[in-house]
Amino acid sequence: MNDAILRTPPAENEPVLSYAPGSPERTLLKAEIDRLLAQDFDIPCIIGGREVRTGVTSPIVRPDDLSRPLGRFHRAGEAEAGIAVDAALKAKAEWEDMGWEERAAVFRRAAALIAGKYRPAIVASTMLNQSKTVHQAEIDAACEVVDFLRINPRFMESLYSQQPQSGRDEWNRVQYRPLEGFVYAVTPFNFTSIAANLPTAPAMMGNVVVWKPASTSVLSNWFLMKIFEEAGLPPGVINFLPGNGGTISKVALARPEFAGLHFTGSTNVFNSLWRQVADNLSIYRSYPRVVGETGGKDFIFLDPSADREVALVAALRGAFEYQGQKCSAASRLYVPSGLAPEFLDNLGAEIESIKMGPTTDFRNFMGAVIDETSFGTIMPYLGRACSASSASCGLKLLAGGTGDKSAGYFIRPTLLLAEDPRYETMEKELFGPVLSAYVYDEGDLEAAYRLVDTTSPYGLTGAVIANDRGAVVRALHALRHAAGNLYVNDKPTGAVVGRQPFGGMRASGTNDKAGSILNLIRWTSAGAVKENFDPPRSWGYPFMDEE
Ligand code: NAD
Repeated sequence: MNDAILRTPPAENEPVLSYAPGSPERTLLKAEIDRLLAQDFDIPCIIGGREVRTGVTSPIVRPDDLSRPLGRFHRAGEAEAGIAVDAALKAKAEWEDMGWEERAAVFRRAAALIAGKYRPAIVASTMLNQSKTVHQAEIDAACEVVDFLRINPRFMESLYSQQPQSGRDEWNRVQYRPLEGFVYAVTPFNFTSIAANLPTAPAMMGNVVVWKPASTSVLSNWFLMKIFEEAGLPPGVINFLPGNGGTISKVALARPEFAGLHFTGSTNVFNSLWRQVADNLSIYRSYPRVVGETGGKDFIFLDPSADREVALVAALRGAFEYQGQKCSAASRLYVPSGLAPEFLDNLGAEIESIKMGPTTDFRNFMGAVIDETSFGTIMPYLGRACSASSASCGLKLLAGGTGDKSAGYFIRPTLLLAEDPRYETMEKELFGPVLSAYVYDEGDLEAAYRLVDTTSPYGLTGAVIANDRGAVVRALHALRHAAGNLYVNDKPTGAVVGRQPFGGMRASGTNDKAGSILNLIRWTSAGAVKENFDPPRSWGYPFMDEE
């Protein structure tokens, strides 16, 4: 028994390594890439701490080199989903009765393992299976994962230390209990860090979890799961279930013990899960917590006072890093009439100079889009654009516009110019390397702000590029409901845990801000206890006495 009032250790953001030529991290990473490429992975489900091979497998694909898969993973079906829920519930009592500091220690240990000995493995697996460049993999799979695991325990401590006032002879306490049941975490392909955070944030708060990773990021996600186990996570606290989302969700969401959904992915899938939860409401023991971060149609707004170089870099990095497959990626660009066409010409020329190819060649700035479905969804939009020299066709191609899926799912970074500000590529999330620009009348800035605010159903991220302070103030005010994360003179991507709590509104999600105390609050059920040290001994009140 330990009566100390403990504090979590300091939690700094993990420094980003450069992987510059000659650096030790580059040598280690290259060796790890070769080691992973030499293997034939056979990745099981992990249920109650046991590896389960169903024999129903799918290939682990390298999107930027289709010559040979990295191996296969075993898909969970209905039976495994049911067994995983049971395994989670079996692990529940012991896990939730552990002190919060013991749970924090498991994840701090996992952070140390990822920052240290497993850094090359987690970065290399994210590069190979998700086609991230070394820098993108480093900031995601190493730094952001470590930040979530290191900094969330601080938020947990801060949350648990919030206690109500008490009177002289009473003691009021709030107990922070995990949810009654299990949490179902469904994660997207595009960030290893989200795959890490969605199951671990509820688990840290004492919950048990069934985790459904995306089929296109199984390799790095499996490394995460093995690291959690090595860090001391007890069997069954998190259960790793790759497979069909519809099948696994049907089982998980039909259990009375379903207590929470922690989802990140597309808006349509989130909506369908929410509908299933609503349909099953009468069978649940409690009202489930439903947390979902979903799609985006993120903007960059150039004020007439914008610094052109700042704007250029924000557009290039914001739209094309990780092939535009960040939920926060810039996909619509508003250019004032006075800056166009010179700015768009320069941007187009820079885009044409971008090097693209397998991310194992470190000179490439971009890799491939995640899979054939994504390639097939994006390409038709590009086909509808006409050449820049055409008279008028609604959508002009200013750069890129081509794709090739013979060796990998490659789509050239593309700049489109929409004549109609509500053209479909200005409104819809394409989730690829496609930036649609619109030139607005700089004589009517208020109309331009209204356009940015109302064009798409989403509200995730946006950037304002302006030198004039008055313009910054006006834009931030006019666009305050247009995004959950706004940036000034920066790209709209790259939120850092503990610095820019991340999440959006409208069709972009429930805005429960990953990487902040606001997210952890969703995974606890507060219980108030009042203790009276001097209870009354008669039931009457003085006002009832005779005059
Ligand atoms: P997705 O919606 O296709 O898949 C997300 C997860 O849901 C995967 O695990 C997938 O297997 C599962 N799934 C798919 N269909 C399902 C179904 N019918 N029932 C249950 N589960 C199902 O998304 P994705 O392609 O992995 O990721 C890209 C999307 O995620 C984009 O829309 C992007 O904007 C969004 N995203 C949002 C954020 C954010 O913080 N707002 C962050 C990252 C990604």
